[in-house]
Order: sequence, then C-alpha cells, then structure tokens
Amino acid sequence: MSYSKPQFKEKYGNFINGKFVDPVGGAYFENRSPVDNSLIAKYPRSQKEDVEAALDAANAAKDSWGNTSAAERSTLLNKVADIIEANLEEFALVETCDNGKPIRETLNADIPLSVDHWHYFAACIRAEEGSATELDANTLSMNIREPLGVVAQIIPWNFPLLMLSWKLPPALAAGNCVVLKPAEQTPASATLLMEKIADVFPPGVVNIIHGFGPEAGKPLASSAKVNKVAFTGETTTGQLIMQYASKNLNPVTMELGGKSPNIFFNSVMDADDDYLDKAIEGAVLFAFNQGEVCTCPSRILVQDGIYDKFMERVVARTNAIVQANPYDTTTMVGAQASNDQFEKIKSYLNIGKEEGAKVLCGGEANKLDGDLANGFYIKPTILEGHNKMRVFQEEIFGPVVCVTRFSDEAEAVEIANDTLYGLGAGVWTRDAHQLYQIPRAIKAGRVWVNCYHAYPAHAPFGGYKKSGFGRENHQMMLNYYRQTKNMLISY
Ligand code: NAD
Repeated sequence: MSYSKPQFKEKYGNFINGKFVDPVGGAYFENRSPVDNSLIAKYPRSQKEDVEAALDAANAAKDSWGNTSAAERSTLLNKVADIIEANLEEFALVETCDNGKPIRETLNADIPLSVDHWHYFAACIRAEEGSATELDANTLSMNIREPLGVVAQIIPWNFPLLMLSWKLPPALAAGNCVVLKPAEQTPASATLLMEKIADVFPPGVVNIIHGFGPEAGKPLASSAKVNKVAFTGETTTGQLIMQYASKNLNPVTMELGGKSPNIFFNSVMDADDDYLDKAIEGAVLFAFNQGEVCTCPSRILVQDGIYDKFMERVVARTNAIVQANPYDTTTMVGAQASNDQFEKIKSYLNIGKEEGAKVLCGGEANKLDGDLANGFYIKPTILEGHNKMRVFQEEIFGPVVCVTRFSDEAEAVEIANDTLYGLGAGVWTRDAHQLYQIPRAIKAGRVWVNCYHAYPAHAPFGGYKKSGFGRENHQMMLNYYRQTKNMLISY
C-alpha cells in the first residue's frame, strides 16, 4: 500500500497562550521534505521577543495550572492521547513527510508510542499517594510535591512527535506550564498537535516556539523566567544549554548522543533457527532505521568463533533491505532527515574509507527514481574495522554500522565501554551467566538482552557518561519536574 504527501497550509505560526500567532519580526523559514526535497510549509523563525511572549504566557498560567488537581490534569492528558490516536494516520503521514522515515515506522511505532506516553503519565499522576507520618503525638510530618513552575523543553528532529510526547506529559502531569521548541528540521507534527488540541488546556499551559537553536533555543534556555530546562539533542549542544541554564541556577536534564554497542556471543550460532533469525534482525534492522536513533546499535561486536558465518548472514540480510519511497508500507529504510545530515553521513563514509575501514556493503548515497532522486538516501552500510577508528567513536547518526571482533567476555566489555558515550547497548547470548553479568558490566543507561529498541513508557531511559544525565519515562520522571516540600505541622 502506498500513501502520498499530505496537504499543508502555506505557513504556520507559533502556538502561544492558546492560539497561533505570527512571529514578532515576521520572519519565517522554509521547511522541506527529505523524501524529495519538496517544500512543506513555512514556519516562524522565532527570536527572543517570541520566546519572551511564550514565557510570559506560561508564567501567567502557572499558578492556576499548578493548583489543578491531579485528576483534572490526568483527564486532559488522556484527552490528548485520544486525539492523537483518533488521527493516527494523519500524524504518521506528516511525520514521514517531515522526517523521511518510512510510514511503516511512524504508523506502527512513533505515533502509537506517543499515544501511550500521554496515557502513562495520566495514570501515574493519579496513582500517586502523598505520605504523612507523625513526628510525635502532636506533630505531623508531611511531604508534598509542588511543580517547578515554567519548564523549557528543547527537542531534536529524529522522533519529532515521540520526543515531544516523552517531554510534555510528565511536565504537565506534575503541574508545570511549558514552552517547547521543536527542531527546525521537523516542526510539522508539533504544529499539527497544537491544531488538534488547541482548546484542551487553559491558555498558556502549553506553548510551542519554532525556530533555530541560537535564535530561539538560546533565549529560551537562558531565560530567568524558566525554572528548568529539559534538553534532548547532541552532546555539544547539551554542553551549551547547561552553560545557559547555569546563569539562573536552573536544573537541567540532558538526553544526549550515543554510540551503542550490540554484542553477539558465540552461543548465538548454536541456538535454534528462530532465535538466530531474531539475532540477525537485531543486528540489521534495529541499526538501519535510518540510523537516526540516539541508541542506534552502531557498533556491532561479534565473537571470533562465529564472526565469519554470522557476518555473512548479516551482510546478506542488509543487502536485502528495501530502501524506497517512504510512503510505501513495504519500505524498510527511508530518507535521512535533512541535507545537512545527508552530507554529514557521506563525509563519515569517506573518513571511514580513509582510515582503512573495509566496506562490507553500502558505503554510498542511494539515487532513487523520479522525484525521490532529490531526496536524501544513504544505502545501509557496514564498515569493518577496529574500535579506535573515528567511525567507531563518533556519532554518525546514519545507516552506518561499524563491526569488529572480540575474543572473550572481558574484551567484549572493554570494547563496549571504550567510548565517550553510555546510552544503550545490546547483548545477544544463550549463556545464562552472560545474560546478567555482561549487562551489569556495561556502562550504559539501557541494556537490551536478546532484543533491542523497545521503549515502554514505564522503563527509565537515559545516559551514562557523555550521553547525559537525568532520566525520561517511568513514574520517577515526575520528580524531575517537581520539588518536594516537607511540612512539620504541630498543634
Ligand atoms: P541538536 O543538538 O543539533 O539540536 C537539538 C535541539 O537543540 C534543536 O531543537 C535545536 O534547534 C536546538 N539547539 C541547537 N543549538 C542550540 C543552542 N545553541 N541553544 C539552544 N538550542 C539549540 O541535535 P539534533 O541534531 O537535532 O538531534 C540529534 C541528536 O540528538 C543526536 O546526538 C542524538 O543522539 C540525540 N538524541 C538523544 C536522545 C536521548 O534520549 N538521549 C534522543 C533523541 C536524540
């Protein structure tokens, strides 16, 4: 089945104080689809004045919103989930058009997962109970949680609606007002969501500001009108955001880059065919969803005993991947999200070749037919080399997997941990001892064992080392958006 490009208006505004408004300076930027480089629409090129207007709206709304009951907030979060679900196909199409990922992914993963995150935090906030204990017969000790006030959220382009849905629900459930800046490469689904839910929250509770990092993101993260900054994006940008927020002594959460290892032990080849097929898919498909996933298993480590046989199957499976029109439901791999990203990946392919990595498959751009020839497609690529190479160490964020071998458990762990990052990791083994001991030894916030790329709302997610700090998802997330007050009440 094939879909086609959805319809857009000529231009869209920021969403501030419950309505769409033009940017103060009147400047817009063109947003283009990476599928075929066609124009999608124009979005506000917001500046400090726009950010200030959104922050003023959020500050005006915060006391009233912060005093709503958990039940009221929970009802509204569930309403958002229902609205996204009722328009699932429209959101999926807009996301595919804006980001280039295949409709198979947006229909089956990005949008349904977004729905679930809204429902999850609607449930969490209701399930909470306050705690009160007696200090003595006359004194009650009570902890209450209060919202922080106004939260700035800045998100990347790789999962536009899902990253928004990781960020907004816990902040709103905890009683905060939010100003969120989507990535300039993918403003469309956040805008569509505001169109659909414009009347759900009181004005000022949710505000969306479009624009570029230095022009709109920086004044947002630096503002004294903000009580917290939650950021997802590149590690180097995260370092800047921390500097901006530190001026106001504001807390930050940092969800940053990764270079995740996916480790295959000898026992993988002894297992039954079903398991082996799953492991091959684990090496291939989870790496090649454009490779634009922070936890992309971009380093494959294979034990000596199975290296040749296993890699033969991995390469054959990679060569069979269908990279085609992202609007076709049979397409496995779509377009890279932008021309910049496309150029960056091609430059890393050159770096890899220059430093001596062997190209096992792919290794170049893919010129598709017709209008798609203008889109940004890179062939799924496997580079063979060693872990000290730049292509093994630096985040390429494309469909480029680097493979190397190891002899024993100690070496597997050493290579896995030999990177600045610590976001995700995969371990594939049939050995009971390794099931637990290898994940324990890996310095990463999420380790999948005999699976990969599941992101349930209840599983805490976040980085070690330069992949960031703080966690997303799980009920604990609410406390990243609140402060605790203890009251000792004597009578
Ligand atoms: P990016 O850092 O370039 O941009 C992210 C956001 O920050 C965008 O909205 C951008 O406009 C804004 N920004 C850029 N410069 C800024 C500045 N000086 N001040 C304020 N805001 C600024 O990242 P990207 O290229 O959009 O996204 C890809 C990166 O995101 C990868 O490194 C990926 O690993 C990471 N990521 C991490 C997670 C996670 O949960 N750890 C999830 C998804 C993506």
